[in-house]
Amino acid sequence: MNQKTSKKKVVIVGGGFAGLNMAKKLTRDARFEVVVVDQNNYHFFPPLLYQVSTAFIEASNISHPFRRLFQNRPNVRFHLGSLLRVVPETNTLETDTGAIPYDYLILAMGTETNYFGMQNVKEHALPMKSIDDALNLRNHLLLNMEKAVRTNDMDERERLQNIVIAGGGPTGVEIAGMLAEMGRNIVAKDYPEIRNFRGKIYLVDAGATLLGPMSKKSQGEALQVLQDFGVQIVLNTAVKDFVDEKVLLANGQEIPTATLIWASGVIARDVPGLPKEAFTRGRRLLVDGFNKVQGYTNIFAIGDQAYMTADPAFPNSHPQVAQPAIQQGKLLAANLTRLERNETLKEFRYNDKGNMAIIAKYKAVADLPKLFFKGFFAWMVWLFIHIIPLVGFRNKVQLFFSWMYAFITNDPTLRLIIRPREEDKRVIGKV
Ligand SMILES: Cc1cc2nc3c(=O)[nH]c(=O)nc-3n(C[C@H](O)[C@H](O)[C@H](O)COP(=O)(O)OP(=O)(O)OC[C@H]3O[C@@H](n4cnc5c(N)ncnc54)[C@H](O)[C@@H]3O)c2cc1C
Repeated sequence: MNQKTSKKKVVIVGGGFAGLNMAKKLTRDARFEVVVVDQNNYHFFPPLLYQVSTAFIEASNISHPFRRLFQNRPNVRFHLGSLLRVVPETNTLETDTGAIPYDYLILAMGTETNYFGMQNVKEHALPMKSIDDALNLRNHLLLNMEKAVRTNDMDERERLQNIVIAGGGPTGVEIAGMLAEMGRNIVAKDYPEIRNFRGKIYLVDAGATLLGPMSKKSQGEALQVLQDFGVQIVLNTAVKDFVDEKVLLANGQEIPTATLIWASGVIARDVPGLPKEAFTRGRRLLVDGFNKVQGYTNIFAIGDQAYMTADPAFPNSHPQVAQPAIQQGKLLAANLTRLERNETLKEFRYNDKGNMAIIAKYKAVADLPKLFFKGFFAWMVWLFIHIIPLVGFRNKVQLFFSWMYAFITNDPTLRLIIRPREEDKRVIGKV
């Protein structure tokens, strides 16, 4: 890893949408030696996490090991490790598994869950940001149902079955729809002991609508479909606390529950070693139109971590979604090649292809630049769009079959409670 070569060493921290697309494109240029650093040994696809957490698909359907991805790419190496700090003075990246020198450093670590300073929520809510989170939530939901079956205390049974989802964006809407469908299709069959299912699903958002950044038509459709499913929608109301087995809302309402799913906010990952002037709103890194971090010539940030004001159509930077990350990753790879050839660099301009959200089976909404559509057709398009960018042919085929089986039967067979043993967790933590 530390051997000197004449090649320029590009270290990319984070192999998500931005980092992976950049690395793949750079492999075509033999002048670079690329190192991808990630805290996980796999790339994964966040838009489908909610289907893992509801036991609809397997985690392996949406994840792929980096080392497998980089086979036959001789100038790309993978380093398993988590960023500790950057030392710009010596062009070194320090990770918990060793230091790595760089010529160009690319920060592509995305975001982490933001609990807005609410300590109890941070400790007890269930986030939805990673595969670990999704599996944890799946186990939690299944274990709760087993507890609900065992108790004869009806209030306790109701508490165990109530689910509060904080955040009415696409993730909150998608998971609310999926859980409501499971309540309808699966609970009575899997848990015959519970004759009267008393649990409720609450979807809470501080804003005035669901699907905030989408069109009014999409917002209305999401509200209607979820209400038809019996989801309790609470708008203009923030979650304030989670104490004494109750979620407290800003309107004074208290909801007894064992499950608060946090799909409410994100904050960019921190980068110790960079000065505070380099950061702005949401802890994103201020970058110029070429994704170069303010104050540096060889440090770049791409994707959710970057805050760019140079794109005239997006003066308050780009939405933190997949497409800007993918497009920035690809352009920065091309720009590094241009830099090495002393050619003029190209400024980033986001090509906004629109937004989509799935609400339930056969029900989705799509806001394309000049077109809105919904229902079965939107649902089909959503499935298609979410299978294409999956990494790996095997994953695409497996996901297709998982979906077909689950949609036809309404009863996938993945509701397994699988947890590492406590001693295994300690070993995993040490690696
Ligand atoms: C549940 C969920 C659903 C979403 N649904 C959609 C959707 O439907 N459509 C859409 O367009 N967008 C969606 N998004 C947003 C989209 O996933 C992000 O905008 C996109 O992933 C950003 O890409 P990125 O490369 O900047 O970061 P990420 O894809 O988040 O990648 C960051 C990478 O950095 C790694 N990393 C993090 N910290 C460290 C560290 N300290 N050291 C080393 N590595 C680190 C992570 O392991 C990860 O591999 C969703 C996000 C979530 C969480």
